[in-house]
This record gives sequence, C-alpha cells and structure tokens, in this order.
Amino acid sequence: MTPLLLDLVNSRIVYPDGPRDELGDDAAARAWLREHDGLGTPEEIADARDVRPVLAAVIRGEASLDALTPWVDVMRRRAQLTRDGLLWHDDVPAGRRVGVRAVEEWAGLQGPDGSRIRPCAAPDCQHFLVDNSRANARKWHSMEVCGNRAKARRHYARSKETAKEQ
Ligand SMILES: [Zn+2]
Repeated sequence: MTPLLLDLVNSRIVYPDGPRDELGDDAAARAWLREHDGLGTPEEIADARDVRPVLAAVIRGEASLDALTPWVDVMRRRAQLTRDGLLWHDDVPAGRRVGVRAVEEWAGLQGPDGSRIRPCAAPDCQHFLVDNSRANARKWHSMEVCGNRAKARRHYARSKETAKEQ
C-alpha cells in the first residue's frame, strides 16, 4: 500500500496568500484518496479531513495521544482459522479505514529512538518529514528547499559577523 501518513499531514499548507489544501474540495479529496488506496467516499473524505489536524497536532506535540482515541476505538481484527494457520482480516468500518491506516502508520513510526515523523526544523516551514536514517537526526523536509535556506542563513549571519569585525 502507498504510504499515507506523510502525504496526509503535508496535504494542507498555509501560504501568505491562503491555504493550499489537497483535500480542500470534494473532487480533489476523492482523487487524493484513490491515489492512496482509498475509495474516496464522502465518509472517507470526512474522516481524512478529521484525522489530519489531530495527527498534525500529535506530531507537533500539541495534542495528547488521547486525541487519536476515536480511530483507535474502531480498530478491529477478525481471525479466521484455516489449514494454513490463522488469517487476520481488518474489520474497520469502511469509512474509517483511511484514518485508521494513518494512525497505524504513525504508531509504526514510534520507537526507542523517538518519533521518525516530525515537523521540518525550518521555522517558516509547515511540512513534516519521515526519517528512516540510522541516526534519526534529519532536520529538513527537503534539503533543496529548507536545508539550503538554513545554510544560506548561517552564511549570511557569518558574513555579517565578519563585516562587523573588520
Ligand atoms: Zn521544510
């Protein structure tokens, strides 16, 4: 399945001239959900719009885990016994599968080295990143955009310092 969580929390960015929201209108939301192995039903669109700000707030550390209870509460797995062993089927209500998948992905990114999903470290950036590196120390959602801007800022600060010293 296509990873969902990172695209979901990055799907709404507020720019100075207004928000750009990939789930903003229903047609766009339907297409987005189908690209992410969803069905694009009205229930699913509503669920994706509901879970997105909650996950963003949890990742930013602005909301407690309890905020995700509505999705955890509908997680169900049904067992089926076969000659080959147990088969597990997801038994989540159809309209809630995308939200549940996003929360499951979030849970899978938590571990002893901390969260592997976090906000980009650039102060003016609203994007999130997933860090699969060993050190789990990535800072920028994009080296090209935010990493280079930070480098330029450091360079500018240094050149100002040098100018003062001369
Ligand atoms: Zn960034």
